[in-house]
Amino acid sequence: MKAILTDVTKCIGCLECVEACKEYNHLEVDVPRNWHRTDGLSAKNWTSILRKPENHYVRKQCRHCLEPACVSACPVGALEKTASGAVIYHGEKCIGCRYCMIACPYGIPRYDWESPVPYIRKCNLCFDKIRNGQKPACIEACPTQATIFGDRNELLTEAHRRIEAEPGKYIDRVYGEHEVGGTSVLYISDIDLGFLTYPVRKNTKPLPETTSTAMHAVPFAFTGMGALMGGIYWICKRREQLKQEKQQAKEDES
Ligand code: SF4
Ligand code: SF4
Ligand code: SF4
Repeated sequence: MKAILTDVTKCIGCLECVEACKEYNHLEVDVPRNWHRTDGLSAKNWTSILRKPENHYVRKQCRHCLEPACVSACPVGALEKTASGAVIYHGEKCIGCRYCMIACPYGIPRYDWESPVPYIRKCNLCFDKIRNGQKPACIEACPTQATIFGDRNELLTEAHRRIEAEPGKYIDRVYGEHEVGGTSVLYISDIDLGFLTYPVRKNTKPLPETTSTAMHAVPFAFTGMGALMGGIYWICKRREQLKQEKQQAKEDES
């Protein structure tokens, strides 16, 4: 399984990865809207660079989780975890419910509000390229090799090797090795990257285990809602019927 390793200490914030992603994926120029979150991601920006104090730059993109919450939350199978590592999107199946946006622990999927037929948008790990043995566009563009691509196990070995070689430089943690069950986008860093994850979701348990309880409740919620609406309909109908009977009785008397 393929993965990306980003070394925050090597990133110079040049945005070449962001531009390469837009170019390869034919993403139009983005017009910032007030509903866009402040992390730079949008339907037309699938990766961004977060500027942090003391010249730290942190790439943000889909983490391509090993057990993706977005996949388990989607009721129609529009998102798929592939053997390559990429979590890809099948727009033709999407019904626009946006459960994936709520389920993602990293706040990644974005809704294409400006499209007449809105789709969910996010990084697909350049699936077309990687299945042909190539690297993602962002990786090819990086001038400092701050972000590299390869086999996930080999990247984990490389990440731990760098941390052990310079223990004073890095935080002793490979981000994405275990969190939410592991991800295919890994980080090593000299600053805490906790801001990339929603606070309530910081655990090593795969989120599908958590979301499945809620998802299993959906059919019952629909059934309950159906019964409620049926009850309301029956009461309204019955009231109308009684009113008509009363009216008829009055007319018969006169
Ligand atoms: S980061 Fe979010 S959108 Fe990406 S695979 Fe994980 S759950 Fe899905
Ligand atoms: S892997 Fe491809 S789609 Fe994902 S951020 Fe990099 S260039 Fe964009
Ligand atoms: S191209 Fe490389 S160095 Fe430049 S912003 Fe992206 S990850 Fe950082």
